[in-house]
Amino acid sequence: MNRYSNKDLLAFDKEHIWHPYTSMTNPLPVYEVVKADGCTITLKDGTKLIDGMASWWSAIHGYNNPVLNDAVKSQLNDFSHVMFGGLTHKPAVELSSLLVKITPKPLEKVFLSDSGSVSVEVAIKMALQYHHAKGKPEKHKLLTIRNGYHGDTFAAMSVCDPVTGMHGLFEGALQKNYFADAPKIKFHEKWDESDIESFKFLIESHNNELAAVILEPIVQGAGGMRFYSPEYLKTVRKLCDKHDVLLICDEIATGFGRAGELFASEFAGISPDIMCLGKALTGGYMTLAATITTKDIAETISKSGGVFMHGPTFMGNPLACSTAIASINLLLSFNWKENIKRINDLIVKKFNALKGHSKIADIRSLGAIGVIEMKENVDVGEIQKKFIKNGVWVRPFGKLIYIMPPYVITDEELDFLLDGMIATID
Ligand SMILES: *Cc1c(COP(=O)(O)O)cnc(C)c1O
Repeated sequence: MNRYSNKDLLAFDKEHIWHPYTSMTNPLPVYEVVKADGCTITLKDGTKLIDGMASWWSAIHGYNNPVLNDAVKSQLNDFSHVMFGGLTHKPAVELSSLLVKITPKPLEKVFLSDSGSVSVEVAIKMALQYHHAKGKPEKHKLLTIRNGYHGDTFAAMSVCDPVTGMHGLFEGALQKNYFADAPKIKFHEKWDESDIESFKFLIESHNNELAAVILEPIVQGAGGMRFYSPEYLKTVRKLCDKHDVLLICDEIATGFGRAGELFASEFAGISPDIMCLGKALTGGYMTLAATITTKDIAETISKSGGVFMHGPTFMGNPLACSTAIASINLLLSFNWKENIKRINDLIVKKFNALKGHSKIADIRSLGAIGVIEMKENVDVGEIQKKFIKNGVWVRPFGKLIYIMPPYVITDEELDFLLDGMIATID
């Protein structure tokens, strides 16, 4: 690629390469990255940007982190991959044992896969196979809440928000599931039972066909960046138990401390029957996900010769597992909770100055997540240029301008990021 100038490279990219959710004939501009280090992304023309996105919730320890680099290099010297059918290795075993240790107690059977969406497919299959093994194959539908996001594969899409998701486009090809109203009561607000009426009605009237409830605990991410009451989640847990419906918590975005607890389910003091992890699992280095379930579910699926029907080629990839072990140990080695609070305090302080801003509809934050909801949709291409001029990397969608920076961001960098964000809006 050395013979490509930046201009040639961008021209080839535009002509031949799909980017996420982008037109092939009228794509938004893309910027060439030549280096990323700590919280700084350096572009080809030398522009340095303070990163507000942690590469979609994942790069929690920043870029080019020496500890994670060493983990990759050291595993690379031994072997980078072997098939997981019939073979096993220390990185997969050590990672799984760490995950069993740090996730809520009853979760102890780990399925490793390649990406968040796949881990959601795996979770759904587990729920279906569980009820099938119990002689209730009619329990094969899912209940979820509106404004959710669970990934782009087919089963995952079938539980994404029906309006902002891709239901219209794939109508007919998606399984029809049930959608309760999204929780309205916000994280810090006083709880009121009426918030869960729609959910309660649906689980009561359809429990004989429901395999599982799937939701993002506390933080609804790509479906609207909303933070809801832990009481909602507590009540969901109770209703699932009452109606023999499994609870799948999709912690792909919230896992590993982002919202202020190691896993967002912990805000409600509940434990799901199946948990999905991804994104920050490898500190943003490599693609890896995990679906973790209970002994009871695993044994039910496995009884009378049953096997769980999934097995990706790159299952348990040793490079990814080694990096994940290093990332989790690094996170747990410092006072991450205090650090998330530090980030939140700075976000809240800067956001306070924006109250009453004429273009802003709502401002909210939880843990290391800060969200500015505008009154109007933003023009991503235009606003992106301004963010870059102001030295920050922020990627809005719809009306939402938000940050979830790497946890290693310093006070000075975070001030710069928030100032750049605010200057761009003004
Ligand atoms: C990103 C995300 C996914 C999908 O993960 P991929 O790795 O992009 O497939 C699923 N659920 C949630 C909550 C996510 O934020």
